[in-house]
Amino acid sequence: MSGAAAGGKARALALVSTGLDSLLAARITQRLGIDILGVHFSFRFDPLREDPETTIARLYEPLDIPVRVIDVSDDFLGIVLKPEHGYGKGVNPCIDCKIFMYRRAKALMEETGARFLVTGEVPGQRPMSQMKPVLFHIEKEGGLRGLVVRPLGALGLPESIPEKEGWMDRGSLYGIQGRSRKEQLILAEKFGIRMYPQPAGGCILTDAQYAVRARILFRNRGRERIRTEDMQLLRLGRHFWPRPELHVIVGRDLKDNALLESLNAGYWLFEAAGIEGPLVLADGIQGEEDIRLVAGITARYIGKKHGGPYRIVFQGSGRSGEVEALRLDEGLVDSWRV
Ligand code: SF4
Repeated sequence: MSGAAAGGKARALALVSTGLDSLLAARITQRLGIDILGVHFSFRFDPLREDPETTIARLYEPLDIPVRVIDVSDDFLGIVLKPEHGYGKGVNPCIDCKIFMYRRAKALMEETGARFLVTGEVPGQRPMSQMKPVLFHIEKEGGLRGLVVRPLGALGLPESIPEKEGWMDRGSLYGIQGRSRKEQLILAEKFGIRMYPQPAGGCILTDAQYAVRARILFRNRGRERIRTEDMQLLRLGRHFWPRPELHVIVGRDLKDNALLESLNAGYWLFEAAGIEGPLVLADGIQGEEDIRLVAGITARYIGKKHGGPYRIVFQGSGRSGEVEALRLDEGLVDSWRV
């Protein structure tokens, strides 16, 4: 089989996240003299996260491991909305997510001449996608049967093709299993890796509050109408559903307001005229009554030092204007909140 890099070294692709495990897996592979290229598939559902290029550069540049960062948000959204293997505790479709990433990695292996894939997976570490039978199912569905090496957990798994063929020395791999991080921390010390993030327990799709908001959005809006921007907005502000067709998002602070404004993709926008207050986005406005309702929600979150009534400006669907509003009753507004 071909796929050797210049100089006769075997070439591998490392599928990396921003966690310690994939950093260690890539480092172990590099130390075995393998020509390694990393790939990080990112999705932009969490606007509060540092941009992935910066995070990846900070982690991998000191190790001299090149990593391509590829934004897959729009393609991945289809998986999140209709996962074949279902969700974990949130709206995290972990099994389908891994299959998706393996398939993308396989295409990149073909493009770059990499012979096999390296991942930081540890058997038994995560409830859904890292149980042994599931790992092999993902491998098969991803089109990479036998071609995935998991340096941290390899000794507890059947020998892979790269190990059998001698491209990767099995004697230099590890048999870590389960959720404890103790052995990974010892390895980090051994390999001189000092900079790594604390374990976060999954991406934003596993977050309980995010998942509640996402499920309501999926049900009320209909999955076919959801875009990447809608998934980003779920992370910001306070969310209200006065009725299933009307979705209102209220900024909590200046940072939220700025992000809501920059992400707004076709939502109506409301804010107080002349005084400080929240930026508010709304989807599903049907007419004047809804405009007054959203203006009243906007007024509810204006600081009490400003007495009402308030002038609220709005724009959306090719219209703009101003209405006078009083604060809506707090209990009523709270009853719509998710
Ligand atoms: S936690 Fe998020 S990124 Fe990780 S496998 Fe699950 S869905 Fe994918």
